[in-house]
Amino acid sequence: MAQFFDTRKRRWAVKLMWLLLALNLVGLLFHGEGFNLLVDGILGTAAQWAPAAVCWLAVRRSQNRLPFVLIALSVTAFAGGTTYYMVALAGEDTLPFPSLADVGFLLFYPFALGGMILFRLTQARPRTVPDVLDGAVGTLGAAAVLAVMFEPLLTPASDDSGLETVVALSYPLLDLLTLAVTAGVITVAGGNVRQRGSLLLLGLAAFSIADVIYAFRLANETYYVGTWLDAGWTVGLCLIAAWADASSRSTEPAPPQYQGNLIIPAVALTAAVGVLVVGTRIPVSGLAVALAGATLLAVGVRTQLAFRQLTALAEAQRQSRTDDLTGLPNRRAFYKDATHRLGTPPVRSRALLLLDVDRFKDVNDSLGHDAGDRLLSQMGERLAACLRSEDLIARMGGDEFAVLLGDLNQHDAVRVAEKLRRAAADPFMLEGIELQTNVSVGIATAPHQGRNLRILMRKADMAMYKAKKSQTGYHLWASVDDEHGDRKLKTLQELRTAVKQDQWVLHYQPKVDLATGEVAGVEALVRWNHPTRGLLMPAAFLHLVEESGLMNELTNQVLERALDQLGQWRSDHCGLTMAVNLSASAFIDARLPERITAMMDDRDLPPGILNLEITEDVMMPERGHARNVIARLRAVGIQVAIDDFGAGHSSIAYLRDLGIDELKLDRSFVTPMTEDPGAAALVASIIQLVHGLGLRVVAEGVENRETFELLRELGCDQGQGFFFSKPLPAHETDRWLRAFPPRVTL
Ligand code: C2E
Ligand code: CA
Ligand code: CA
Repeated sequence: MAQFFDTRKRRWAVKLMWLLLALNLVGLLFHGEGFNLLVDGILGTAAQWAPAAVCWLAVRRSQNRLPFVLIALSVTAFAGGTTYYMVALAGEDTLPFPSLADVGFLLFYPFALGGMILFRLTQARPRTVPDVLDGAVGTLGAAAVLAVMFEPLLTPASDDSGLETVVALSYPLLDLLTLAVTAGVITVAGGNVRQRGSLLLLGLAAFSIADVIYAFRLANETYYVGTWLDAGWTVGLCLIAAWADASSRSTEPAPPQYQGNLIIPAVALTAAVGVLVVGTRIPVSGLAVALAGATLLAVGVRTQLAFRQLTALAEAQRQSRTDDLTGLPNRRAFYKDATHRLGTPPVRSRALLLLDVDRFKDVNDSLGHDAGDRLLSQMGERLAACLRSEDLIARMGGDEFAVLLGDLNQHDAVRVAEKLRRAAADPFMLEGIELQTNVSVGIATAPHQGRNLRILMRKADMAMYKAKKSQTGYHLWASVDDEHGDRKLKTLQELRTAVKQDQWVLHYQPKVDLATGEVAGVEALVRWNHPTRGLLMPAAFLHLVEESGLMNELTNQVLERALDQLGQWRSDHCGLTMAVNLSASAFIDARLPERITAMMDDRDLPPGILNLEITEDVMMPERGHARNVIARLRAVGIQVAIDDFGAGHSSIAYLRDLGIDELKLDRSFVTPMTEDPGAAALVASIIQLVHGLGLRVVAEGVENRETFELLRELGCDQGQGFFFSKPLPAHETDRWLRAFPPRVTL
């Protein structure tokens, strides 16, 4: 409510201020000779107190009061000076110069200057280097021009004396200073502040003009009260008040600006050059020349900075369109350009080719990522060399390239595909090894197979997949392709997105120490938060991840996330370990141990708290390699477990020479235990044997109390299963961990 009245009061005050100014101006129009009590004395004074009142109301409203208090004080001081002047004049013909009134007039400046500087200092907008330079350029440029304008006043006649000269000189000098500083402050500020700032600059300009004319008239002894000149200061005060009123209203920070904007430097440059040109015609002071020179210098620095910003911007833009590895355009650039080309009517038709390097994963796995990178970069070079300059080629990510060909029929498109394959088939030299590979090419044509890029991409992707599967090298999309495997291909594409956007969710299932009843650790189990199908279980997608060669990415993302989580839990649940599942293909990666060690180091985690679960099929392709990786992992303290033991070609014999820490007994052994004494006896002997090898035994699929108790009796170390908890999302696991020991009374 109070604010409502404040707002109304303020609006009325502003209206009254303009009304009084208008009346004052009209009065001056019909003014006769000499001092007029109504027009000069009453209206003239009131018209100056009104802006003072508006300023004080602005103070009340602003959140940032001090600058506005100073501005209000400056206007008040001036109005006070005028009042004294008019009162003193009422009885006299003239007033001595300087008089007490000049104290009020002169006080205007320090208050106004202080207010402006404080206003700037308290602005929310951060001051950047270009900002500050703009401010300096603005101030210098304005000062140079003003120095020329005030030239005659700054070089007083020599016969003037003492205080009178000092005071007479102070006005234009202080005007110059205030105007220049304000110009600087306003140019530094952005957005609204800068827009409104013109009010303030106009106000100060009115002031300066009035002062210059006054000074001339005083010097020529032609000044007398009651001309429009008197209203000059009032106009100035009213504009300043209007500015204060508008600026106190909002304290919102100005929107960020593009800092390459060179309007201010351009204007300042023109002004400075103007000053120097004028200087060749009429004598100007050394001060003006120096200011103009300084302006040029500052403009130079500012422009240089803008140029550098622009170059950096252009470089950033180029980089955002370029693939680092091959130097070819990237996916983003391809999407943009290809969409544009497909939008313009084709002469005949266009063809989209999707190329995927065959057995690229093997290269990466066996020779390392550096070799893989080099292969891709050489491949990109070769492919690009086969094309005409108007064709579009890009690396889409991974080992995938895309080509958009213009103005050709299907037959030509196939010929280009063959040509690309011939180029790709030449052996590559990598790490001194000669390597032969090729690309599989999927082709879709526009406009008859699709007019928009999305559809063409999907069809070319399907065709590429088919080419790969059938080992034909290339395949031109045909409508029958859509019927088979469409769903599967869609999932494949979605999986790529899933990897790119990290759509994985981890659930955690506790592993319980059967002897003590304490939680030993948790196992991270991945789920796919599918955008339309909801949360998918691993069985629904892991084989596809494997097939599409994305397992390494998935494993990395799961590891990162599980370790992040462990880092969070460690303070509350001390001694907790984290188990992560590794598929055979992830395990083949020779650099796995280093990568994991780096991840642990990044998070300051001791290696002993990570447990990697691998299945027996890891050993199948090449036992030596697996043993080697296991040894390297264990050497840095990471634990390794064999998962699903008993589900595959189990043999306890090879466990010994693998050198592992833990064996996880498959559910299929554990579940029948309570019903089938034979199964229980088998589990009992496995536990004994495994203990004999010095390994820990963990039973999976503990679904009820009997199983749990039986396992404990048999000396099984740990258990995992629905009896304790099903896999839970992180926050629920956290709650479970906090409540655990009391819940299961063992
Ligand atoms: P797993 O490693 O054997 O994980 C245990 C699976 O058994 C989990 O299925 C879990 O929900 C289920 N389970 C746990 N307790 C019980 C129980 O008492 N009774 C029954 N019937 N089932 C129980 P989930 O989560 O569907 O995972 C299936 C498999 O997917 C995992 O088997 C693992 O091989 C694989 N997997 C999960 N996450 C990852 C991962 O991040 N990377 C890799 N490579 N594989 C993963
Ligand atoms: Ca597991
Ligand atoms: Ca298992």
